[in-house]
Amino acid sequence: IYTLAIESSCDDTSAAILCNDKVLSNIVARQAIHEEYGGVVPELASRAHQQNIVPVVDVAIKKAGITKEDLDCIAFTQGPGLMGSLLVGGSFAKSMSMALGIPLIAVNHMKAHILAHFIDEAGYEKPTFPFLALTISGGHTQIVKLTSFFEMEIIGQTTDDAVGEAFDKSAKIMGLPYPGGPLIDKFAQEGNPKAFPFTKPKMPGLDFSFSGLKTQILYFIQKNVAINSNFIEENKADICASIQHTIVQILMDKLKLAVAETGINKIAIGGGVSANSGIRATLKEAERKYGWTTYIPKFEYTTDNAAMIGIVGYYNFLEGNFSEAAVVSKARIEF
Ligand code: ATP
Ligand code: FE
Repeated sequence: IYTLAIESSCDDTSAAILCNDKVLSNIVARQAIHEEYGGVVPELASRAHQQNIVPVVDVAIKKAGITKEDLDCIAFTQGPGLMGSLLVGGSFAKSMSMALGIPLIAVNHMKAHILAHFIDEAGYEKPTFPFLALTISGGHTQIVKLTSFFEMEIIGQTTDDAVGEAFDKSAKIMGLPYPGGPLIDKFAQEGNPKAFPFTKPKMPGLDFSFSGLKTQILYFIQKNVAINSNFIEENKADICASIQHTIVQILMDKLKLAVAETGINKIAIGGGVSANSGIRATLKEAERKYGWTTYIPKFEYTTDNAAMIGIVGYYNFLEGNFSEAAVVSKARIEF
């Protein structure tokens, strides 16, 4: 089964070709334009998708070594995301499925971040059910309990900012360019994670809160810069390591609680922040310390990519779950 998958929920235009559960190509066109603005500008994102979508799909098909006539179905991101961005990928997918006379499959982006683990990839094991997923991305922070490929339930989520935002906003406070998450990770490698102790939010149950941490970091930086204008430059690695350490501890506290409450100790991470080296190392350590089984996706399937949309498309194709041509893109979508 050849699946063409299209992802355009935010600022990356991506197309992938899968043969069953194997990825033949996974092309991502990043939009550099947003760096100048310190965040994604929706209007600019949708225009860039409009420019990129045809060449990106073309390259994905060529790189896979197939022709469009070989395709069996087209999967696309229905939501959640930026409406103007979603509409470009959605309209393109619809038109192409009509032109080729093949089924269309609408995919939930957040479920795809989790189900990316089911891509057949050498050296990566697929999770076995039931398992817990920690989805940590630019717009979401969720703990999800999965009992089958199609049955999943959110058991905890953020009540304000997402983890990715906590990273990006902290980076912005430090004057680092957008998106700052990967930069905090990079500088943290050289720093002392205990140099600046930040307090963790007191959030009951499995829900998260990150906005207080952001404010705490803002005041901390302002206070110190007022005393020493070179404070950030001189302590960059230590500040980054301390921020990262605090965020990782917040995530770990909730995961431990989720394991205790559900009795499930298999944990898969997904979403852009799962590229973070601190989280990866801490989870590996938890395998030894607590006997958990953890699943960490291949780097290219962590941030937004069409391959993860394609794997959900393929499993739905096998079940005959197709979408109507009248299916609509949704900025917010029921899980
Ligand atoms: P959503 O999936 O919720 O709609 P999104 O698609 O914008 O949001 P992703 O592409 O999954 O988000 O993830 C992007 C986020 O991941 C950004 O906030 C970015 O800073 C963060 N990120 C990427 N790499 C790292 C890293 N190594 N350490 C920390 N954060 C990272
Ligand atoms: Fe995403």
